[in-house]
Amino acid sequence: MAILKVARLGHPVLRKPAAPVPIKDIATPETQRLIDDMVETMREYNGAGLAANQVHTLKQICVIEVNGNPRYPEAPNVPLTVLINPVVTRLGTEMEEGWEGCLSIPDMRGMVPRHAAVRLEAYDRTGERIDVVAKEFFARVIQHETDHLNGLLYVDRMTDFSTLTHLAEWNKYWLGNAEQDD
Ligand SMILES: [Zn+2]
Repeated sequence: MAILKVARLGHPVLRKPAAPVPIKDIATPETQRLIDDMVETMREYNGAGLAANQVHTLKQICVIEVNGNPRYPEAPNVPLTVLINPVVTRLGTEMEEGWEGCLSIPDMRGMVPRHAAVRLEAYDRTGERIDVVAKEFFARVIQHETDHLNGLLYVDRMTDFSTLTHLAEWNKYWLGNAEQDD
């Protein structure tokens, strides 16, 4: 396994749509190695998720995991999830605001509105179909990661840029304090 280099905001690969992975290619050593490397890279940098665009590969693959993440101390745990060719459909019209960061936009946070509930259809790394309803934080991470696969970043979804903050200032002024005015 290897820790991969993560593309940062401004790199054109982050703005390109990723291509679907042919189903027959999911089991290949190349795809499985890419998935292993993405998981290792996500864990090395304490990401809550990582999309293939972020490691300079335009394939529709993303990985998600939250397990006592120091970058997201308030986030609930999410077991390791590998999504291939994910399709996300919003359920209902309810939106939720929440903080997001991104390994491609280091040391920043912003408040992002997301659909509160989505249907997720995808393949897992064994080629099995996934078809689930996701809510709240898991729904947020899915929307963030699948946006990457379409060339979008969380800043594209922000509506209030007064919440865009460096991580040190977020820890100082915003952590656990999002509803407060001062
Ligand atoms: Zn990201």
